[in-house]
Parts: sequence; structure tokens; C-alpha cells
Amino acid sequence: MTDYPHLFAPLDLGHVTLPNRVLMGSMHTGLEETGDWGRVAAFYAERARGQVGLMVTGGMAPNREGAVLPGAAGMYGPEDVANHRIVTNAVHADGGRIAMQILHAGRYAYSPEAVAPSAIKSPISPFAPHALDEEGIEKQIADIAHAAALAREAGYDGIEIMGSEGYFLNQFLVTRTNKREDGWGGSYANRMRLPVEVVRRTRAAVGDDFILIYRLSMIDLVPEGSSWEEVIQLARAIEAAGASILNTGIGWHEARVPTIATSVPRRAFTWVTKKLMGEVSIPLITSNRINTPEVAEAVLADGCADMVSMARPFLADADFVAKAASGRAAQIAPCIACNQACLDHTFSGKISSCLVNPRACHETDLIITPTNAPKSIAVVGAGPAGLSAAITAAERGHAVTLFERDDVIGGQLNLARRVPGKEEFDGLVDWFAEEVARTGITLRLGQAATETDVTGFDEIIVATGVLPRDPGVPGQDVPHVIGYADALRGAPIGQNVAILGAGGIGFDVAHALAHRGHSPTTDLPAWLREWGVSDPADQRGGLAPTGPRPEPSPHRITLMQRKAERPGKRLGKTTGWIHRASLKMKGVTMIGGVTYDHIGPDYVAVRRSDDGDVEHIPADTVVLCTGQLSNRRLADVLTSHGYPVHVIGGADLATELDAKRAIDVGTRLAAAL
Ligand code: NAP
Ligand code: SF4
Repeated sequence: MTDYPHLFAPLDLGHVTLPNRVLMGSMHTGLEETGDWGRVAAFYAERARGQVGLMVTGGMAPNREGAVLPGAAGMYGPEDVANHRIVTNAVHADGGRIAMQILHAGRYAYSPEAVAPSAIKSPISPFAPHALDEEGIEKQIADIAHAAALAREAGYDGIEIMGSEGYFLNQFLVTRTNKREDGWGGSYANRMRLPVEVVRRTRAAVGDDFILIYRLSMIDLVPEGSSWEEVIQLARAIEAAGASILNTGIGWHEARVPTIATSVPRRAFTWVTKKLMGEVSIPLITSNRINTPEVAEAVLADGCADMVSMARPFLADADFVAKAASGRAAQIAPCIACNQACLDHTFSGKISSCLVNPRACHETDLIITPTNAPKSIAVVGAGPAGLSAAITAAERGHAVTLFERDDVIGGQLNLARRVPGKEEFDGLVDWFAEEVARTGITLRLGQAATETDVTGFDEIIVATGVLPRDPGVPGQDVPHVIGYADALRGAPIGQNVAILGAGGIGFDVAHALAHRGHSPTTDLPAWLREWGVSDPADQRGGLAPTGPRPEPSPHRITLMQRKAERPGKRLGKTTGWIHRASLKMKGVTMIGGVTYDHIGPDYVAVRRSDDGDVEHIPADTVVLCTGQLSNRRLADVLTSHGYPVHVIGGADLATELDAKRAIDVGTRLAAAL
């Protein structure tokens, strides 16, 4: 008997039955572009062994002009078929099923060769696309159908046609991007001709016994997006043209509404897919911010969809489904939706991985095997670096003792989890606690380890983290100047607040104070209001005519930094804009290029230039978020007495302190001990 009866109900697609209702959604990992197809195969095979019902690959271009950027992987001919066969063989050998996504980027292609219905540049690309003529459109259809036929030849179980997120097919559907006056533009019947024709021709090319998923944009979240009547009309036409499943797309890439970040409530958009249930007879898949079996089960039990798509959760844990199936859900490493090692990597031209699981996309080079020579290992500090090192070492068979000065594990994660919008960190700390118990680590809470505590061990790992940097601003030694930890732990805060330091923590503190007492992330209606999302049946594209309507901030907040650049410029590539937009909506003033002169009784005196006048920023409370320094006290004592120590995480490098690096370094060290 399973805890998740809806999740583990088989899904009969006629020619094939999927064993469960979980789709691993498409992700662009960058692995295909390495040319190391054994590595690509290892990534998917590991997830096939984890028992996911069906996987979808990252987007493969059907032709050069449709590639997301020059050199991006595609399905063009026999050489690609041979490479992809390595992947499909590995997946099938491990009992899995895999579909290849065909992605034509249209005007989102980062290339001067980009093509689109009309020559309208997207706000997120520097290149204006070429408007296709009739012959060009026919070529795109033929190329997509050809890529699908090649995918079948390569051994795939199906394909997914990417029709959402503002890519090529989506661009034909809406007047925002389709200004054509021929048979492919104008009326909706004309605008939807291309996606429908693509599905019809693709079905003809692949035959009936092949899965054909169409990813349909159900809420565009851009002006002039599709109306709900148009979504229904398209869904029915796509079904009639031969699709076997409809997947849900949420928001165009250029939308100014976050759709997958940590601060987006769980299952924030499953209500949109639910509106389409019953309008077509093929199965519907829903998506976005579903990251636990409990949430997935509830989505299905609520009748929102026939199947759920999760993508990033399979980076965090390849065994998500197998663990859920065998009563080990608490052992599933949670995706915290941070994007730090997946999408931020993709958009920086790096191979994806996962903050929580550094093995993701490194299956062939980060191998964790049982040790032949068990050692006793002391790990000092139960923040992300120490926890990862301790758990990996214990997993391998070492005898690990983990010392933590606080009475709880988690280190700085315990501050992050206090920030409204970062509730996912709760799950991460819980998972670490589960793993500490499961792997049999001896946990010494409330014990600040000394030299004598650790010197009897075979190996000593010091992960003692960081101490706040003292900025030395004249007048700071007064009670209304507090550190970020106190601010996040709920210290009294005045009406006017000045935050010194606009790094990740300065932004976190600003969020926490601007949302004090209420997190829209755990209140879906409030979150939808905050970002101006409406029912697409009421408004085209699902954008409320009133725009964003956040609750007013309880404090008047000024966030400052000395660097003469836009505050927040260095935050995550795919999430920085959300932090900046969210604070702006809350009326937070963000100032770069200041020098701190002194702190007065109810102000911070700053200059905006060397010879500028002193300006008083109102501040009943001043919060110092001015960075950190490594806490190396124990490491220095041990080293000076000649003990070899491994120093990791913030204790090693405070300037690049970050959970992604900490977990990666801790895991890799322990994998090698
Ligand atoms: P940080 O990002 O390095 O920012 C430190 C801030 O302090 C900067 O704004 C810096 O700006 C200021 N500062 C540095 N030296 C100063 C001095 N002597 N006097 C006054 N101001 C000074 O560090 P953080 O905000 O403490 O964050 C620590 C780490 O946690 C970061 O590496 C970040 O990756 C991680 N984190 C990430 C997130 C996220 O959302 N991804 C959230 C929280 C934390 P100026 O020098 O220009 O004044
Ligand atoms: Fe999820 Fe963050 Fe890992 Fe990406 S890096 S898969 S968002 S936990």
C-alpha cells in the first residue's frame, strides 16, 4: 500500500502504459554540448533507475536557425541519431522511458540567424529575428517533423514539442509577436495554424505508436497573451492533430512574473491546468513548483491534472520516485528552487548541477563509493559544508563525529529559512537531519569543539563558518545598530530602517523586513495579487489590469552599498531581477555608491560622492549586512600545533561563502577521504 495512490497509478496511453504519473520535465543541462554522450547517458540512466515514469530530454533544435544559440545540440541527421542512441539504450537497459524535446527558439535564439513570425526583437535578446516567408515556414514544419522521425530512429519512446514559454510556436499564437497579414497571421484560426500543422505533420512522420507530448502555454503572463477561449481552442485542435499528452507551459521567458523561483508558492499554477481538465480527452500534465511527493499527490488527488511534471527535483535527487515508492520520502533531497546551480549555470554557459546534489550532471566524475579503509573523522560545524562532508563520509562507511556549537544543525541555513520566500530551506535542514540520523553520525550538539576534542581522530574537517565583518562606521556601537542575524531572528525594528550592505544577505534582510509577519509564498491568493496574476479566463495572458498589488511594507527601508553599481547586480542570474522587482514593489529605496560617514540617533549620514554633501538617511534601526570573515580560530590552533586539517566552506573562503560551494566542497572532500 502506497502513501501516494494517485502518483503511483499507471497511465495507459494506448500503445504503452506508464508505471506512474511522474514526468521528469525537460532541462537544458549543457551535457549534450560537451560531446561526451556517455556522460549524457549516465545522467539519464541514473534517473531511469530511480523509476520516474517518463523523462523528457533538454530541448533539441530541429535546425540551425531554431537553436537557442549557435552550437546548441540538435537532431539533424545520422550522426545525432547515433549519439542519441547511446542515451536511449542506456535508459532502456535500466528500465526507463525517454522522450526527446524538440525546441525551436524562434526569436529567443541568441543568434543573428533567428527566425520568427514577424521581425520583432524580444526584450531578452539582442537580436531581431528575420520574418519567415511562406517557404521558410514550410521548412520549419518539415524540419520539426524530420527531427521527430530521427528521434524515433534514435530509439526514443516519444517526443515533446515545445509550444510554450514564448518560443517559436508560441510566437505565432499571439498578436504580440505575430503581425502577419497572410494565412499564418490575423485571425486566431490563422495564428494557431502553425502549431497544429506541426503536430499533424509530426504525427504523420512518427506513426501512431509513439508518444507525442505538446507543451502548451496555458497562461502566457505577457501583454496580448492568449485568451482562455484560445487556449481551449488550441488544445482541442492539437489533440485532433495527433498529440497523445498535453503538458503545461507557464509564462513566457520575457514575463515579469516569477514562475519557478523559491519565492513562488508550491504548485502555484496547477489551478490553471485544472481549468483545462475535461476540455480534451487526452491526459494533461501540470507543472511548476511541485517538489515533494505529498504536493504531487495532492495535485493529482485535487483533479488538477492526470500527471505531474517535475524537473529540478530530479537534479536534487535521481531517486525521488523510488524513495517515494518505498516509504523513504523523508530521504528525498529537496529541490529548494534556488536556480543557483541549474538555471544560473545554464545562463552562464556552464554545465548544470544542483546546489543540494553536486553529483547532478557529474555522475561520471563524482563517484561516492564505500571505503575500504574506514577512518574516524571529526567534523566541526554543522552548516552546509560540514553536514555534506559528514554525511558523505558516513555514507561511505567512515565513523563520523559531528560537533556543532549551536543546539541545532544547519548553520546559516537557519537564517535563510527565516526569510519570507525562503521557506524551502526548512525542507533542506530537515533532510540534512534525516541523513545525519540515517548514516549513523555521532552528533554532538551544543559543543564548540576544542583542540582536545578532535585530535584523537584520523581526519579533522573544520567547517566553522563565518563571523560578521565589522564595518567600523563611526557611531555604530549603539543599541539600535544590530547585526543581520538579530534582524532575522526577530529583534525589534523601528519604522525607518537602513540596511548597510546590499549583498545576498542585505537583500534577504530587506525582504524579511518588508514582508514581516506575512509571507505571500505560503498564501497563494496574496502572492498572485502581489505579482498581478489573474485568471486567464478573465484577462488575456493572465495579467491583472491593475498590475502588481503588494501589501505595503510595514517599514520604510533603505538598502545601501558602497560600490557605484546597481544594488543586486551580482545576485543570481535568473533570480536577481525577482529580488530587485520585489523590493521595488515594496517601496524599498536601493542606493549604490555611498560612503558611510557616521551613524546618528535616528539616521545614517552618507555621502553619494567624495566631495558631496552629507545626507541623512532616516534610520531608527540600522542593520549591518556588510559581509563576513572566515572563522578560522580552531583551524589556526590545530595547524599551529602541527595537526593536518581540512578547512572547508566559509571557514576557508568567506568572500565566496555560499551554500552551493559549501555543499560541493564538503561532498567532494569526503568522497576522496
Ligand atoms: P556579500 O554578498 O559579499 O555582500 C557583502 C556586502 O557588504 C556588500 O554589499 C558589500 O558592498 C558590503 N561590504 C563589504 N565590506 C564592507 C565594509 N568593510 N564596510 C561596509 N560594507 C561592506 O555577502 P553577504 O551579503 O554577507 O552574503 C554572503 C554570501 O551568502 C554571499 O556570497 C551570497 O552568495 C550568499 N547568499 C546568497 C543569497 C542568494 O539569494 N543567492 C542570499 C543570501 C546569501 P560594498 O562593499 O559595495 O559596500
Ligand atoms: Fe533545485 Fe537549486 Fe538544485 Fe536547481 S540548484 S535543482 S533549483 S536545489
